[in-house]
Amino acid sequence: MTSARLRPLVAGNWKMNGNKMSARVFAAIIQGYDSALRAKVELLVCPPATLAVTFGVVAVGSGVAIGGQDCHAAASGAHTGDVAAEQLADAGATYVIVGHSERRADHGETDAIVQAKALAARRALLTPVVCVGETRAERESGNALDVVRTQLAGSLPETADGGDLVVAYEPVWAIGTGLTPTPSQVGEVHAAIRAFLVDRYGDAGKAIRILYGGSVKPGNAFDLLSVSDVDGALVGGASLEATDFLGIAEYYR
Ligand code: PEP
Repeated sequence: MTSARLRPLVAGNWKMNGNKMSARVFAAIIQGYDSALRAKVELLVCPPATLAVTFGVVAVGSGVAIGGQDCHAAASGAHTGDVAAEQLADAGATYVIVGHSERRADHGETDAIVQAKALAARRALLTPVVCVGETRAERESGNALDVVRTQLAGSLPETADGGDLVVAYEPVWAIGTGLTPTPSQVGEVHAAIRAFLVDRYGDAGKAIRILYGGSVKPGNAFDLLSVSDVDGALVGGASLEATDFLGIAEYYR
């Protein structure tokens, strides 16, 4: 199944990096996002929560979307250190990443927690970017597809209309390591995710963008983004430099 008709999305996950000075990097990303590129690809930057308001102001009118990196399932309340989806929306965000493998590993987030966060995102009118992906041991034991399907089953909302959900396939072993799956491995997992989405949501499942994430750089963007059912990228390290981030998006020009 191909999804070439979907508007691609290149999303940057800044993780716990950046400070006020990073507005310069963000401004350079905006500057490079010219009308020709804007016509071909959507750009999203997910800065740390401390920078969401600043970036949200800088982004007005640029076409570059702002996202959170996580949200709490509740709309408000006694949850010290957490951020509500509503607060991200208030800061100007339109997306939020949920279920990133670093959150699953560092904070013990289960599929059920991730699903609750995805629903919270929707409640706040944010689009959740739900992350799934296998560990190296799971890949080596031949269980990658089963692991991803199980995560999808537990992490995704029960309903979707297409535009209100993004899925990111991020093999844990490829994140921040410089390692990437082969295009054929990426294609196999993305095809399985597409089949899952169509099974779960019917035709709406064909309209859900599936991003690949894990050591995407300008040098490997063509190989990874040209795979069928890859509708964009979730980019960590390479999103911290405007030239690298834009260099990945250039694939779509
Ligand atoms: C990520 O953490 O979402 C990611 C894809 O990181 P990197 O691009 O650095 O591998």
